[in-house]
Amino acid sequence: MSQNPSVAIVGGGLAGLAASVALGSAGYSVTLLEARPFLGGRATSYPLNTAEDTSTTIDNCQHVLLRCCTNLIDFYRRLGVAGNVHFYREFYWIEPGGRTSVMKRGLLPAPLHFTESFARLKFLSVGDKVSVANGLLSVKYEYGKRADLEQMTMLDWLREKRQTPRVIERFWRQVLVSAINEDLDRTAAVHGLQVFYLGFLAKADSYEMGIPDVPLADLYSENAWAEYPEVKIRERSAVQQAVMENGRVSKLTTASGAITADSYILALPFERLGTIAPELDLNLSSFTHSPITGIHLWFDRPITDLPHATLLDRTIQWMFNKKEGKYIQLVVSASRSLMQMSREDIIALALKELQEFFPAVKEAQLDHAHVIKEVRATFSAAPNLEQHRPVSTTTIPNLFLAGDWTRSGWPATMEGAVRSGYLAAEAVTKSLGTPQRFLKP
Ligand SMILES: Cc1cc2nc3c(=O)[nH]c(=O)nc-3n(C[C@H](O)[C@H](O)[C@H](O)COP(=O)(O)OP(=O)(O)OC[C@H]3O[C@@H](n4cnc5c(N)ncnc54)[C@H](O)[C@@H]3O)c2cc1C
Repeated sequence: MSQNPSVAIVGGGLAGLAASVALGSAGYSVTLLEARPFLGGRATSYPLNTAEDTSTTIDNCQHVLLRCCTNLIDFYRRLGVAGNVHFYREFYWIEPGGRTSVMKRGLLPAPLHFTESFARLKFLSVGDKVSVANGLLSVKYEYGKRADLEQMTMLDWLREKRQTPRVIERFWRQVLVSAINEDLDRTAAVHGLQVFYLGFLAKADSYEMGIPDVPLADLYSENAWAEYPEVKIRERSAVQQAVMENGRVSKLTTASGAITADSYILALPFERLGTIAPELDLNLSSFTHSPITGIHLWFDRPITDLPHATLLDRTIQWMFNKKEGKYIQLVVSASRSLMQMSREDIIALALKELQEFFPAVKEAQLDHAHVIKEVRATFSAAPNLEQHRPVSTTTIPNLFLAGDWTRSGWPATMEGAVRSGYLAAEAVTKSLGTPQRFLKP
């Protein structure tokens, strides 16, 4: 047995992976147990394997980050894959009909860095822009200071700031529904203000959008872990239960035997905890899910040369150009309206809307298409939920929690998941008498 303290981590999503890399880099002996045959959890990729296409690997959904995701970027750096994320300075907004506006930073320092491009945005009138600017000023003054932001919805906050329905729809909603994966009338205002404060106001480059240029699962491949021999990864290892003895976890059971360690981290989705650790006294009844739908389209010719764009006034919210303008991925966040629709109806809707933005779609032939409905994509960041998000320590001294739904300080995002993993790793080191810091500010 290793001399180093041992930690068993359950769940190979970003939370479990982040805890593993942090503890592995600090010399702890880590065993990571993942139920599925691949890593990444909700941020992963797999071979398409359809009748039309057996060679393509697709992401379960396009995942993007912003430069303000400092812990996620640190996690990629630790795995040696940060260079596989391409950062874009331009945000493209397209109206039905094809008129395109570009938002990017100019020469002025933060928080005025968008002034020039903001003034040129075509999809907002002068009055709209004055309204948005006033709203952003309020973000700057209220974020981190106002006490009731957790209790009110983002929509109520925007109405309090006299934002017009058009500005709410075309500006605030367009950014926030994708960032938080929830509608404005269901999102706690604190998260909305956080997105704009950290992503748009705090630093001039923090809005830059990072898109991995390899399939998501390649970011956590075997090669990436070669630097961390202390981390043993066991895929296809579903944990059945955390067994308790004398008020502590004594082992984890799996179909192929028991795992023992000094400390245990459960980095699982919230809905899985009840069966694996029923002794944990958590109030999870306030947690609900919000869905995301990804639509993958392969055309016989390029339909755009933009790398990505946000699409205004329609169901489809984002377009990502995955390959030469021919392989396009569309994303609809908080996609409850699509949940009951058939695959064929969703593809028909996507094509109808897409040709309003990209006329080349009318001439192009669709070779094939794939729809992924992630019903349990993220937790819904509703008002009054924060108090129910558990911290990483539990009432059981050698059992810790991680996952995007725990109290990471962020809504359900890759950054939130990594933060939760680092926080759990810090709590483990503290409990073992060798406290370490992993979390970046
Ligand atoms: C469609 C979609 C699009 C998204 N887009 C973005 C985006 O653009 N940007 C962004 O920042 N975030 C995005 N997110 C959110 C982001 O993916 C998640 O917040 C994050 O990946 C959650 O990581 P996690 O480790 O907390 O949980 P998970 O990824 O759910 O990890 C939990 C892991 O536990 C494993 N597991 C479950 N039961 C067991 C068991 N009994 N034993 C062992 N292992 C088990 C699961 O297989 C899984 O791998 C998106 C999510 C989805 C679904």
